[in-house]
Amino acid sequence: MKILVVNCGSSSLKYQLIDMKDESVVAKGLVERIGAEGSVLTHKVNGEKFVTEQPMEDHKVAIQLVLNALVDKKHGVIKDMSEISAVGHRVLHGGKKYAASILIDDNVMKAIEECIPLGPLHNPANIMGIDACKKLMPNTPMVAVFDTAFHQTMPDYAYTYAIPYDISEKYDIRKYGFHGTSHRFVSIEAAKLLKKDPKDLKLITCHLGNGASICAVNQGKAVDTTMGLTPLAGLVMGTRCGDIDPAIIPFVMKRTGMSVDEMDTLMNKKSGILGVSGVSSDFRDVEEAANSGNDRAKLALNMYYHKVKSFIGAYVAVLNGADAIIFTAGLGENSATSRSAICKGLSYFGIKIDEEKNKKRGEALEISTPDSKIKVLVIPTNEELMIARDTKEIVENK
Ligand code: AMP
Repeated sequence: MKILVVNCGSSSLKYQLIDMKDESVVAKGLVERIGAEGSVLTHKVNGEKFVTEQPMEDHKVAIQLVLNALVDKKHGVIKDMSEISAVGHRVLHGGKKYAASILIDDNVMKAIEECIPLGPLHNPANIMGIDACKKLMPNTPMVAVFDTAFHQTMPDYAYTYAIPYDISEKYDIRKYGFHGTSHRFVSIEAAKLLKKDPKDLKLITCHLGNGASICAVNQGKAVDTTMGLTPLAGLVMGTRCGDIDPAIIPFVMKRTGMSVDEMDTLMNKKSGILGVSGVSSDFRDVEEAANSGNDRAKLALNMYYHKVKSFIGAYVAVLNGADAIIFTAGLGENSATSRSAICKGLSYFGIKIDEEKNKKRGEALEISTPDSKIKVLVIPTNEELMIARDTKEIVENK
């Protein structure tokens, strides 16, 4: 069974064709600048790149080109489209309605539309992607996999904000959490690595990429997470401020005369390690600057480590203990310096890292010492594979 995984942004589209026989990636690619000048498709098969530059006025044209590339006589990977058994779509926001992935029908489409106020940038793009695929593959089953779904098991006292209850109810304001597909994937893979049933584990999963969030997972279910109503909350991120005193918002707006939109941009695009260091939103640049003596770069990184550490401590309390801490995503998988700095101050919990193991990259492994009370794991995330696995399961059981 081959599954096409599609992740649509407003002007971009990422895809992978996965063979579920061995979960291998048959082909993958990226379409950029959809609806703008310079639209380009980069299609990759076995490390070979095929670039198609041609106008793509909308997502339907983009998907058509992707399908053409997949069945192309020269570098195609399938004979015809009937070899695609199903399509799995990444959808940002499923609101309160979806705690799991679901086969897409008219009701599901309506629900994704109703969640647009909660995911104004992503849900419309996700809808465009689904619509385009439905038009081009009307008989192929489609599954929606929501970024928010995994966090729906949080208890009410973890997801409710302490603002007047009627306002929360009226506008669906609550903690939703994001990166759910990644947190779920690495928690399942961690259980495999530890040779344990997820039901016997308390895990703290740290998705540390450009966007970053931590999740407390008890017996395979999310019980708390750092992102909130939107992906702005929680940790310090590449360009996002994470948790700040909410009074800072009216304070800055009154002092500077900034509009709501300007303040929103400041918090989402100009803050985080970029805003503090003044160097970059990329941790590699900031680490380099800090190593060359840049004090603000050092401050930004120390703030980052401090915040991650604080939430790990909080979640050990929430879970009343932990079996393992898992690092994943760009920084979590690749930066030995960050993992070491974060874990250094956690010796009270009996967390000890083996610095030699910590240097390894690119594979799922345990980096803690054998006597570490809480194990520390690095697990490369794979959201596309999680989407494909869900899609396969739903389509086979429909
Ligand atoms: P992601 O959003 O998961 O793709 O992660 C992207 C971020 O990971 C980049 O912005 C980098 O800051 C960070 N990153 C990737 N590789 C490294 C590395 N070797 N060292 C430090 N940070 C890294």
